[in-house]
Amino acid sequence: MRLIESAKSLIALYKDYRTMDKDERADFYQSKCDYYQKYVELTLVACSFVSVGFLFFDYLINGTILPTLIPRLSIVFFLAAYIFAIHFFRERSAIVFMDYMVGHSYMLITIWSIYYLSTNEYSAEGIMMLNLIWMVIGFVSKPREVLLSTLVFFAEILISHSFIHYQNLEIIIALVFPSAIGVVLSHCLLMLYYLDHYRIRQKLELAMVTDPLTQVYNRHLLEKIVSRNTLKDVAQGEPIAVAMLDIDYFKKINDENGHYTGDLTLLYIGQKLSNETHDNDYVIRYGGEEFVIIFRNCDVNNACARMEQFRIDIENAKDTPVPFTISVGVSRYNGDYSKTIQNVDTALYKAKNAGRNRVVVV
Ligand code: GH3
Ligand code: MG
Ligand code: MG
Repeated sequence: MRLIESAKSLIALYKDYRTMDKDERADFYQSKCDYYQKYVELTLVACSFVSVGFLFFDYLINGTILPTLIPRLSIVFFLAAYIFAIHFFRERSAIVFMDYMVGHSYMLITIWSIYYLSTNEYSAEGIMMLNLIWMVIGFVSKPREVLLSTLVFFAEILISHSFIHYQNLEIIIALVFPSAIGVVLSHCLLMLYYLDHYRIRQKLELAMVTDPLTQVYNRHLLEKIVSRNTLKDVAQGEPIAVAMLDIDYFKKINDENGHYTGDLTLLYIGQKLSNETHDNDYVIRYGGEEFVIIFRNCDVNNACARMEQFRIDIENAKDTPVPFTISVGVSRYNGDYSKTIQNVDTALYKAKNAGRNRVVVV
């Protein structure tokens, strides 16, 4: 049954959510915020027009718009401050805080306007409209932030009751309470469904930068590193070395043993490189039988020694699909990935010209 399937997938998503570590959870919520914030901003702008439109409702009650004109128009001030401030922040918690600030300023305006109405018997309707705002801001929030804002919302109702004396406080509470539960629950669900979207996006992003044959990174990732001239999480002054590896006479391996054996050789070397490098190093299939390795926190001498050991291991390995050797060029990262790649290419060219099966440093 479809409902049971949905429940099962929700349980699986919940388990996934529970096992996320702190950093991953922060990245997840940041991604959710980046995805929905534009929608929230535009909706808040649209809501301000609606809020000004309530002047018509005020006219029907008071017979004039004058008493509530300033409260209703004050949304322009809150909105302008919000639009100005929101552009200075990228961090989710700051953005969400400002979204809720503007949301609660709508509440303030509602209370301020009700205060000037000749009767407050329709205040339940006005206050209920606020749930639309909480629903929208919840898209960028954590469920606990939705809950916190809801509690502030209740406090605002009760505090304002002390000077407005709502004629129908019971009705306001009776309407607002179940709506608030609905808003919180619906955002718990949305959070889990966004996790599904987040995971699919991660898989697609990884597939984009993964070579299907060798399962190491592909050239897309190298292009990204080169165009941005940066790696993720590099410490200041961290030494980085780059190597370029090319299988010797690979064409001959293909010609004499077939392309399938050639593919197995590529798979072998991709896996061996992955196993023998550190987790934060990058192994990238650069071209047909060429690989680039970016060694993190490693000076050029160390990178050279590691590649020399790798070359010897390959030369003497007994488990390769066919015997083969490799040539390697190594260079220090000089502050420019594009130029460093040119340097390792030159070093590799020298290793080939010097007779192959060797490591050359430039
Ligand atoms: P050198 O020692 O100078 O590097 O000689 P080489 O034969 O290795 O160099 P060359 O660049 O001429 O040959 C590379 C070959 O790699 C040509 C191409 O058919 C083969 N190749 C490229 N991609 C793949 C692949 O995915 N699978 C297989 N089996 N072969 C590939
Ligand atoms: Mg080759
Ligand atoms: Mg080649």
